[in-house]
Amino acid sequence: MNEDQRPIVIVGGGHAAVQLCAALAAEGQGKRVHLVCDETHLPYQRPPLSKAFLKSADEALQTHRTETWFGDAGITVHRADAALRIDRDAHTVHLRSGATLPYARLVLATGAHARTLPGLHDAQGRALDNVAVLRSADDALRLRALLASAQRLTVLGGGFIGLEIAATARALGKAVTVLEAAPRLLLRSVSPELAAHVLQTHCAAGIDVRLGVAVGGLYVEGTRLRAITVDGAEEPVDLLVLGIGASPETALAAAAGLSCADGIVVDACMRTSDPDVLAMGDCARFPEYGSGRPLRLESVQNANDQARTAAATLLGREEPYRALPWFWSEQGSMRLQMAGLMPADGTRHRRPGATPAAFSLLHYVGTRLVCVESVNSPLDHMAAKKLLEAGTSPDPALACDPATPLTAHL
Ligand SMILES: Cc1cc2nc3c(=O)[nH]c(=O)nc-3n(C[C@H](O)[C@H](O)[C@H](O)COP(=O)(O)OP(=O)(O)OC[C@H]3O[C@@H](n4cnc5c(N)ncnc54)[C@H](O)[C@@H]3O)c2cc1C
Repeated sequence: MNEDQRPIVIVGGGHAAVQLCAALAAEGQGKRVHLVCDETHLPYQRPPLSKAFLKSADEALQTHRTETWFGDAGITVHRADAALRIDRDAHTVHLRSGATLPYARLVLATGAHARTLPGLHDAQGRALDNVAVLRSADDALRLRALLASAQRLTVLGGGFIGLEIAATARALGKAVTVLEAAPRLLLRSVSPELAAHVLQTHCAAGIDVRLGVAVGGLYVEGTRLRAITVDGAEEPVDLLVLGIGASPETALAAAAGLSCADGIVVDACMRTSDPDVLAMGDCARFPEYGSGRPLRLESVQNANDQARTAAATLLGREEPYRALPWFWSEQGSMRLQMAGLMPADGTRHRRPGATPAAFSLLHYVGTRLVCVESVNSPLDHMAAKKLLEAGTSPDPALACDPATPLTAHL
């Protein structure tokens, strides 16, 4: 087989993997591609799992592509099969099914897994009957069924996924408590002003949000979690969801001797410490464009854009990753949209919207616009992305005049 025609093996069936399949198929390279995914479902959109999908049993999974699309593109899909071991010397991947796939280039798009806590599993490693995490479609199917029969939901963790689940459960009429150890919500990802608005909105919707709490003892009875201690007081548990973050799925890469540091370490072209192996998406730690600071992002934007960079690298083009980070989250009545990354130090300016429930926060470092957080202001978000991509920094006073659309400053 001609070296250029040898297979490209992609491990993972999430957003990054499917985007890479699409980019390679668009360049007529589909027949070279083997996609290995350990889930039984065809690759699907993950964001709805904590939103519409959780709300109603009528909601179906939103698959990225049909079986026919993969077939027409010539892509071989190994569904419900896992990559267990990489032999870098032999350029092969060993699958759980017993198959061995040779590769010219291997791409790891293994994503991340939800963190859990010791003591919440039975002897066989299964989660307790009334304890759930949310990462995969199977997790969402299980949580949806558990929610249907629960009266009260306790969410551990005030991050994006925990808050989305809390808002969804509240909309279903459940009594919801959110327990967060930090002094505010969304500590790592949004500004204090936005976090305060999110807190106020959830409280107004009837969610009991408790900040700065210490969760201690776990009281298990048989296969159920009966109670937990919160700040020393015992509280009964009906249903507990862990929203305490995700860890990158690096075991396969680490066992193959690839450099890992809270993520598979890649260069700006998504190459790992072995140039024949690439990594991208939630599992990859990459150098931030400009600063070179090592970053790992968990977002659809990052997965999709890194897949485009990986496709270029595989096809012999050097197109270093420099996409603007952006993110969204839907929590009850709030649509939050972020463009750029929150600076550690900076000044913040508020751009009012049509109602108190709609506004944007513009973050500057010196005179440079670096990040815009928008609440129920999609037009501001779209304009902010363009401003940030163009490196345009309007004067804050002018940019915050609600009478002038942000796009006017482009
Ligand atoms: C509930 C939820 C809601 C979210 N909401 C938003 C949102 O609103 N906005 C946003 O921007 N982002 C959101 N995200 C984050 C976003 O979904 C992720 O950033 C994105 O899915 C990352 O894509 P990925 O391809 O890197 O990894 P993933 O989508 O996690 O895909 C990785 C895949 O690889 C498979 N895999 C792992 N190891 C192996 C192996 N050894 N062999 C075979 N297969 C393997 C996994 O089973 C999985 O299917 C959400 C995530 C979750 C879980």
